[in-house]
Amino acid sequence: MSEQNLKVDVTDLIKDYGNNHVLKGLNLQVKNNEVVCMIGPSGSGKSTFLRCLNKLEDPTAGRIVIDGHDISNKNTNMNHVREKIGMVFQHFNLFPNLTVLDNITLAPIELKKMTKQQAEATAHDLLKNVGLDEKATAYPASLSGGQEQRVAIARALEMQPDIMLFDEPTSALDPEMVGDVLDVMKNLAKQGMTMIVVTHEMGFAKEVADRVVFMADGHIMEEGRPADLFDHPQNPRTQDFLRKVL
Ligand code: ADP
Ligand code: MG
Repeated sequence: MSEQNLKVDVTDLIKDYGNNHVLKGLNLQVKNNEVVCMIGPSGSGKSTFLRCLNKLEDPTAGRIVIDGHDISNKNTNMNHVREKIGMVFQHFNLFPNLTVLDNITLAPIELKKMTKQQAEATAHDLLKNVGLDEKATAYPASLSGGQEQRVAIARALEMQPDIMLFDEPTSALDPEMVGDVLDVMKNLAKQGMTMIVVTHEMGFAKEVADRVVFMADGHIMEEGRPADLFDHPQNPRTQDFLRKVL
C-alpha cells in the first residue's frame, strides 16, 4: 500500500490519564475511501482514540499521520489538519442561539475559507442532501434530535473534510430517528468519504463498513471484513461481545 493512499496511519498509539492506561499501543491504517467501523465495550478507549486523531487529546506516545501530515510532530500546523477532519459526536453541539444555516456557515466564514454567499449556497446544498433545507432558518431547539444530528453532519461537511469521524452519532437518539441519520451516513460512504465510525449499530457496520475493528481494554483485539468478523470472530473477547450485542 502506498503511503499516499493512506488517510490515517496510526502507529503504537499510547494514551494514559495518570495511572489509567487507556490506549495501550494501537495500530490502525485507513485508506482513502475506506469506511471503518469501531465496535467494543464501553470504556475500551474508542472515544479517546477518535479524539487523539484530531488532537482533542494529546497522545502520550506513538505516531499519528493524517493525510501525510504527522500530527505527533509539534511543528505540524494543526489548524490546517483539523480542517480536513470532520467530527460528529453523540451530542450534537449545535449553537442554540444560531439558526441552522448560521450554525453551518459560521466556521468557513470565520476562517475565511468561503464568502458568506458561497458558504450559504454550499450549506443549502448540504441541507438538501440531509433532507432539511426547509429548516435553514429554524433554531436548534425547534428540531428533533435526529434533525439536529443531520444538521451537525451537514456542518461538518461544510468544511469539505477529507475524513469524517463519527462517535456514536445515533446513541442519544430516539429509535425512530436513528434510520434517517444512518441513511445520511450511508450516502456519504457511497460518495466515497473516508470514515471512521464508532457505533453500536451492528446492522450499519455489517452493511456499510469495509472493515470492522473490535476494541477492548485499550487494544485492537481483532479486525476484519464485516462478514468475517461478525460471522466468524476469532478472538474470545470478540465472540463474547458479539454474543451480548447481536
Ligand atoms: P469508550 O469510548 O470506548 O467508551 P473512552 O475512550 O470514553 O471509552 O474511555 C476510556 C477510558 O478512558 C475510561 O476509563 C475513561 O474513564 C477514561 N477517560 C476518558 N476520557 C478521560 C479524561 N478526559 N480524563 C481521564 N480519564 C478519561
Ligand atoms: Mg465513547
